[in-house]
Amino acid sequence: MTMQSEHVVVQEVGLRDGLQIIPHTVDTDIKRRWIDASYAAGLRHMEVASFVPPKLMPQMADAQQVVAHALGLPGLTVTALVPNARGGERALASGVHRIAAPISVSEAHSLANVRKTRYDMVDEFRRIRELCDQGASATRPKLIAGLSTVFGCTYQGKVAQDDVLDIVRRVIDAGCDAITLADTTGYATPQQVSDVFEAVRTLAPNMSLIGHFHDTRGMGLANTVMALQQGVREFDACLAGLGGCPHAPGASGNVATEDLVFMLHSMGFSTGIDLEALLASRSIVEEALPEEPLYGFIARAGLPKNYVGATL
Ligand code: ZN
Repeated sequence: MTMQSEHVVVQEVGLRDGLQIIPHTVDTDIKRRWIDASYAAGLRHMEVASFVPPKLMPQMADAQQVVAHALGLPGLTVTALVPNARGGERALASGVHRIAAPISVSEAHSLANVRKTRYDMVDEFRRIRELCDQGASATRPKLIAGLSTVFGCTYQGKVAQDDVLDIVRRVIDAGCDAITLADTTGYATPQQVSDVFEAVRTLAPNMSLIGHFHDTRGMGLANTVMALQQGVREFDACLAGLGGCPHAPGASGNVATEDLVFMLHSMGFSTGIDLEALLASRSIVEEALPEEPLYGFIARAGLPKNYVGATL
């Protein structure tokens, strides 16, 4: 691997992926302080909200206020999740920098999650693209195709690589700017990650790819290494390993941002993130979610003796 001093983007997705399955609504003010603490620790990419109907997900009813706050922080790239064109309109009005629109590769998960087929979701993606293109090019948000259940599905089990490539072709045809390959269910294993990313990279060599791994079966960091070897330089993660999907039972826990940053620095990558400040920011998650278990190996074990903050 030739990776010395290269920069890797770490996107904090705790405020979206981490909070979406939490039943009690977290105060907007705590969300603002969480964003501020992550920003102070050096994070410059955050997915902060979902523009979903507030009735379906009261947790995200304050999406607009949360996005507005995040947009006030200089140099922060602000992303929001948008499941349909209606949400796309709200996201565009909010001025968000990037829109991530989810499409399940597993048909069974798609039907359970959004009651639409995969191809219906690709059509919805096209509508969001058209909405984005109506605005001035200078303020046009980047549109990310967030492919979920890429590596396995709690409903149908195996997800064929051909199905992944089929959806990749369709979202490229629909005009995506980047593609996230997400292990929504925590099924991915390292060799599989290598194979799938290689196949996608071969199909679309110039497309920006983002890795999104849940650590449900302890494979999150190993999967990340394999994606790094395939040239991936952006990853989602959740502070304190929060995260899950309401329609992927038992799939809690994204890779913890703290552990990911520790590993990347140990490999010589720069992230711009101050690990000690990041660890300290867990106190806001404790305050926001007193009932939730918090994860993370580095937080539990502490930094190694004589740890040097590596490359920032
Ligand atoms: Zn996720």
